[in-house]
Parts: sequence; structure tokens; C-alpha cells
Amino acid sequence: MKVLIVGCGFAGLEAAKELRKRSRELEIAMIDRRTRFEYLAALPEILSAKVSPAELSADLNKFAAKINAEFINAEVVAIDFTAKIVKIGTAEREIPYDYLVLSVGAEQTFFGIPGAEEHSYSVNTLDGARSTKETLDTLDPTKKINVAVIGAGLTGVEVAGELVVYFEAKGASARICLVEMMPQVLPAFARENLANPVRKNLTGRGVEILTETAVQEVGDDAILFAGGAKFQYDIIIWTAGIKPNTLLQILDLPKEKGWLKVDSDLRVPGHEAIFAIGDTAYFESDKGRSGQNVEEAEGQGKVAAENIIRALKGERLKSYRPKNTIQNPRALISLGADKAVIFFA
Ligand SMILES: Cc1cc2nc3c(=O)[nH]c(=O)nc-3n(C[C@H](O)[C@H](O)[C@H](O)COP(=O)(O)OP(=O)(O)OC[C@H]3O[C@@H](n4cnc5c(N)ncnc54)[C@H](O)[C@@H]3O)c2cc1C
Repeated sequence: MKVLIVGCGFAGLEAAKELRKRSRELEIAMIDRRTRFEYLAALPEILSAKVSPAELSADLNKFAAKINAEFINAEVVAIDFTAKIVKIGTAEREIPYDYLVLSVGAEQTFFGIPGAEEHSYSVNTLDGARSTKETLDTLDPTKKINVAVIGAGLTGVEVAGELVVYFEAKGASARICLVEMMPQVLPAFARENLANPVRKNLTGRGVEILTETAVQEVGDDAILFAGGAKFQYDIIIWTAGIKPNTLLQILDLPKEKGWLKVDSDLRVPGHEAIFAIGDTAYFESDKGRSGQNVEEAEGQGKVAAENIIRALKGERLKSYRPKNTIQNPRALISLGADKAVIFFA
């Protein structure tokens, strides 16, 4: 019996670990287009050099060897659900499965804003964070540097905090502008008792916060905001928004706003052998909708693994209970300079 896990991020690795913990005999194969796991949650900290890129990634081959699983470094390009086959790379190689776990995560979106993707840097991947840091290093510290951070969600506030530390260490004068379309920072939290201390911390350290400000277009050297104001920039770091992985578009499976729908047991409706977990999955219950965060990704990975074992034994599957939901989010937010805010509902 073979379980194939597509995507070795937080959700996929947790599922693999839990499967092996529960069964010595099961054949486990894991596919990822990267060779290294990336610890996305700490990528903003690369900017201030608090951590190095090497410290935030781990070899997937070694992980697989440790749990006696096969690791295949390839991009999944198609899946035949009838033949139970995953196609990789140029689709010349086909990997069969009995149970499939889809955990391909999310991708960054620029919302189709003209010039945004072309002119922005990112911290959403290890390569992106590394390249953003390298570009910051090339900026002339004898001149005032204008930085725009677009999106004041979790990543945006963390990036702003790390930039303050970075420019202080560099001895450079910088205008750091944190731009948010909604009326407050951390809009997903919708609670002033979290947003206010974060705003106070950042503004107290010199970050300019522009709320209710939407980016309309990004040109070669200036951002145009809706309403007509312009911001001349030296660098833009885009932290606003995620969208479903492009692979999902070609999968004929039930979706909600592009994310894969799952039942209470984390199986894709109508497909008994397919589980979807982590950012990829759209999970909703009476407890609320799972947030797209590490806690949910790992929690779902564990339960999906347990349910595969239960299905093999012919037992009743377990219902997943989300903890870190859209309705009641919780988080630990690092603001740089050894400052952090922890929020539990
Ligand atoms: C910058 C940043 C900061 C964040 N900060 C926090 C935080 O502080 N706290 C928190 O809880 N959450 C945070 N998150 C969100 C959190 O990282 C995600 O919710 C979590 O990574 C989801 O895990 P996942 O396993 O679903 O996806 P991922 O961890 O993204 O893993 C998906 C994997 O699938 C692979 N893959 C994708 N497509 C294919 C394909 N076609 N073929 C093969 N492999 C493929 C990718 O290479 C990747 O390894 C942050 C995210 C980012 C980007």
C-alpha cells in the first residue's frame, strides 16, 4: 500500500512523519519541486541577518531517509485520479499511488496590479528573501533610502520591524512606509488590542504607516496610489496576499475560491483516497474556517495521516477540529529588535 505526498512543506512533512509513526510497513513517497524544506514563517528575519538562509531550510532527502520514505525531487504537472497516477516533470514519469495527500501550499498574488510583480521583491520564498536582502545591501547608505512594504498583515509588519533593525545596523537613513488597503494594520485579526500595540511599536521606531491606501499601479521608480498620491521608491517589498497554487487550476476536484474543498475528515469530497491539507485546503466546520498558518497545516497533516491508517483498517475516520481559525486567529508576531507580540483568542 503506497501513500504519495505531493508538497513537502509544514503539512506534507507532518503527514509523512505521522504516517511512519503509525505504520512501519506502509510505503511512503514524497514529491517536492524543491530539494529543501523552507521555514517560511521566519523568512522576514533574513533581512536583518538575525538568521541565515541556511538556518531556515532542511534537506528533504535526509528527512525522507530518516523516516524510511522515498523522496522525489520533481514538479507535479498533472494527476490522473482514475488511474491513480501522478505525472511529474515533463509528464514522462508517472508515480502510482493508493492514497494521495495534496499539500502544495499557496502562491503569492499581486492582484493583477500593473507593474507590481515586475518591480517588487518578496520574502515569500527562501530565494525571494535572499534576493531581497542582497538588493537592500546594494542601496547607497549615504543617501536617504525609500522603502515601501505593501500589505500590513503578519508578514508585512514583521518585514517592517526587521527593516528598522537592518537600516540601524547599516547606519543608513531610510523612509520605511508600510502600506495597507484596510483601515488598520493586521486586518485579519480585526482586534484593536493587537493592532494598536503593533502600530505603536512600529511608528515609535520610525515606520510610516499608510492605512486605507490601495496600490493602483507600480512604475519604474514610483508607486501610484488610488486617489492619485505617488511614492518614489528605491525598493518595494510585496507582502500582500496569497492565491491557490497554479497546479490546482488543472485538477478536476471540488474547490472553493480556487482552494481544494475537504470534508470533515480532510478527504476531498467524492474522492475516498485523496486528502488535501495545509494552505491548499479549504476547511470549514462549526468551529470556523481553518486559517492558512503553520498550526493548521501541521494539525491537518497529523489528522490526515491518522485517517489514512484508520481507512486502511476499515475504521471510522476522525473529524478535524481547527484551532487557529479565520474567525479566531492566534499568532506570535516578531517585530525585530527582540520584540514580539503573542496573541491568543
Ligand atoms: C513570509 C511568510 C511568513 C509567514 N509567517 C507565518 C507565521 O509567522 N506563522 C504562521 O503560522 N504561518 C506563517 N506563514 C504561513 C505558513 O508558512 C503557511 O501557512 C504554511 O507554510 C502552509 O504549509 P503548507 O505545507 O500547506 O505549504 P508550504 O509550506 O508552502 O509547502 C508547500 C510545498 O509544496 C511544494 N510544491 C508546490 N507546488 C508543487 C508542485 N507542483 N510539485 C511539487 N511540489 C510542489 C513547494 O515547493 C513547498 O515545499 C507565513 C508564510 C509566509 C510566506
